[in-house]
Amino acid sequence: MFDVEKVRADFPILGEKVYGKRLVYLDNGATAQRPRRVVEKMVEYYYRYNSNVHRGVHFLSNRCTDANEEARELVRGFIHAASDKEIIFTRGTTESINLVAYSFGEAFIQPGDEILVTEMEHHANIVPWQMLCERKGAVLKVVPFLDNGELDWEAFGHLLTEKVKLVGVAYVSNVLGTVNPVGKIIERAHAVGAKVLVDAAQAIQHIPIDVQALDCDFLVFSGHKIYGPTGVGVLYGKECLLEQMPPWQGGGEMIKEVRFEKTTYNELPFKFEAGTPDFIGVIGLGEALKYVTDLGLREIAAYEHELFVYATERVKEIPGMRIFGEAASKSSVISFALGDIHHSDTGILLDKQGIAVRTGQLCAEPTMQHYGVTGMVRASLAMYNTREEIDILCEGLKKVANMFGMK
Ligand code: PLP
Repeated sequence: MFDVEKVRADFPILGEKVYGKRLVYLDNGATAQRPRRVVEKMVEYYYRYNSNVHRGVHFLSNRCTDANEEARELVRGFIHAASDKEIIFTRGTTESINLVAYSFGEAFIQPGDEILVTEMEHHANIVPWQMLCERKGAVLKVVPFLDNGELDWEAFGHLLTEKVKLVGVAYVSNVLGTVNPVGKIIERAHAVGAKVLVDAAQAIQHIPIDVQALDCDFLVFSGHKIYGPTGVGVLYGKECLLEQMPPWQGGGEMIKEVRFEKTTYNELPFKFEAGTPDFIGVIGLGEALKYVTDLGLREIAAYEHELFVYATERVKEIPGMRIFGEAASKSSVISFALGDIHHSDTGILLDKQGIAVRTGQLCAEPTMQHYGVTGMVRASLAMYNTREEIDILCEGLKKVANMFGMK
């Protein structure tokens, strides 16, 4: 059984007050909170073992190197990759996508090739592809979504031609909460010879992921959305592809031998890890994955689903509520507008009641444009949220509506 009160006790920040009110943190899609043991693990390494990885012969350096590589193995196991060589540490989802856009682009993209993304992508899964297209004379194509937040499958079918070399798709939309059928997308893309990058920034913390079962070519996520530290993320790539891709940045552990005539590069995964990595962050991420694994991702998912269904029902009851995205398969995110009230006003007035939600374009301007709005309010749930907090959100929203004279 998932014991939410026990889990909450692991997160000191959840006991904080803001403006003298109990904090209700519903901005987990932007960043989640960290449990005590993640922070303590990092503090332990800073206080007792800090030393640069892969370079020293001494005790401290070896200790950090071992812990860094243990974390890599933890990530591998967490997403069920075939080999540690397929796990590259980056600064986060954004950097992972930029790495692929550059390096895969260098190796495989020719003028006239197409990259296919969806209309509901986060900017991080749009802009690096636009930059690649500009660099290589390739063409960015966009799969639209339907008003209910589901991908337009028919349009996908039309757009997916043999010209497409890569499909970039969010597993879970950070605005609409749509859980995209990535398994089906990958199968269809592979049938025309396209590779697929799955943006799992909003999925990794909610859905058990098996990259081999999915057969995705790349999968990316950030540590800070799965209760780990900021500044660290993961790029999973199939070894056979990563082998063919050139390094992205030069220096540090990515080299094998440096000569002015010609430098040779290190093996995977180090080929893509230039410079001193955030090894303490990596160690913290490993601890976060252990924490989540100890709780059980399936148990977490079941609890979150039940909470999400409750939250959706309660929020929908509020008069004047408009929810964006009502896909049949949805996870953890409820984006909405309350009557004609500006999203910032709603956000600020909720904040004054101790309730933290996100407002604005949510790093997804094309999604805003789809609905013809300048912004939305987003409540995004994590495993430590409770029904009581949802009730507080709904009461808070009703107060906001009252203040604006809504009936
Ligand atoms: N992709 C999605 C779907 C996201 O939700 C986010 C962050 O909110 C990102 C990419 C970018 O993540 P990061 O800022 O950690 O690189």
